Amino acid sequence: MQKSCRYKAYSLNNFRDIPQMERLPEEIKFDIEVVGHVLPFKANNFVVDHLIDWDRVPADPLFLLTFPQRDMLLPHHYEEMAALLKGGADRAELKAAANRIRLQLNPHPAGQISHNIPSLDGENLDGMQHKYRETVLFFPSQGQTCHAYCSFCFRWPQFVGLSDLKFASREVDRLIDYLQTNPQVTDVLFTGGDPLIMSARNLAQYIEPLLEADLPNLRRIRIGTKALSYWPYRFLSDNDTEDLLALFRKVGENGKHLALMAHFNHPRELAPEPVRQAIAQIRQAGAIIRTQSPLLRHINDDPALWIQMWNEQVDLGCVPYYMFIARDTGAQHYFNVPLVRAWEIFREAYRQVGGLCRTVRGPSMSANPGKVQVLGTSEVMGEKVLQLRFIQARNPDWVHRPFFARYDEQATWLSDLKPAFGEERFFYQKEFEQDYRENLEEGHPEDYE
Ligand code: SF4
Repeated sequence: MQKSCRYKAYSLNNFRDIPQMERLPEEIKFDIEVVGHVLPFKANNFVVDHLIDWDRVPADPLFLLTFPQRDMLLPHHYEEMAALLKGGADRAELKAAANRIRLQLNPHPAGQISHNIPSLDGENLDGMQHKYRETVLFFPSQGQTCHAYCSFCFRWPQFVGLSDLKFASREVDRLIDYLQTNPQVTDVLFTGGDPLIMSARNLAQYIEPLLEADLPNLRRIRIGTKALSYWPYRFLSDNDTEDLLALFRKVGENGKHLALMAHFNHPRELAPEPVRQAIAQIRQAGAIIRTQSPLLRHINDDPALWIQMWNEQVDLGCVPYYMFIARDTGAQHYFNVPLVRAWEIFREAYRQVGGLCRTVRGPSMSANPGKVQVLGTSEVMGEKVLQLRFIQARNPDWVHRPFFARYDEQATWLSDLKPAFGEERFFYQKEFEQDYRENLEEGHPEDYE
């Protein structure tokens, strides 16, 4: 086991202390302050010292991934916050303005947290979501933050103190009750934030009861995490690393499959030696690592990067899983790639990698009706169309049925698309609108995982 590494966290309060910041013009530091007052910002010494290439800042993709940028706010929002900061506004004024702007960035509205929330004996199980038949999402309360914040993250509202938007649960007993009364559920996904920010002891308080309970239907435990990229020492040298790896082993010893759903947005995140060692440690503990990322303008909108990423992931023993479309919230205008271009990038990369990399699925939108994959463009009876299908859906009967939208080079999300061939609605829409009207009105609460 290697020597422990000291953790140093950076936020808006102390980012100017980062030694590499000295090289940057004041204008960029001010932009970080302005945008960081609206969108969440947090980094640590591993991100700063091992991931960001400071010779390429400000264009460096890992810098853009973790540090707020001027264009992540719309110009009038930026100007409003900048004027307040320059004018010496007090904390209350800054907070009020920030919240006003945040509410215009399509955060998940307060009522939305009631969507997909399962119930048991007439009582809502807050801190859980159940959208797809086989999988329940569980949001452990101590895992609702991250080692660093990704600037594209659709969970941004829960990191900026809009507390009524938080998901959280300590109720593992209720989860067990729910799993016992829902034998169709085979998978539990621990998600956040990043559940692996929790101590091994806290994580065990959630996982061990699942292993000890009588749950023959529960086959797989998944943990969504970015710790491999942002703090690989979690699996190498933290005080409780041994306990964490022992817990991973215990899952397998109890006959369950453990999968780490790891976020990697750029191939550089796979390069540091601690990351490679951490992957090896996790695999030795019997867990499978599946990898996923949204396709992000400025960061990874180049097929060559995906080819490199998928190849290296497979070489390291990981399984490429998803390429997502950036979601319609927060700084989406900064990151989005039109669906047609996203498909071109996916195809260009996919056709140049071997079969073991082709476990990846995408590009996929985690939209309200389900995960919609863009299969490509074609021409049918003289009409140019986009071909789509559900990878996952609220109604399992919708899955893998091809459907068609009018060709639209600008569309960036499912809601931008219109049905092809003069149809008024997509095949699933009538049922969806009847059953999920409330969700339609209030937004898109689904998860990347
Ligand atoms: S994408 Fe994952 S790791 Fe990044 S900020 Fe969001 S929840 Fe945290």
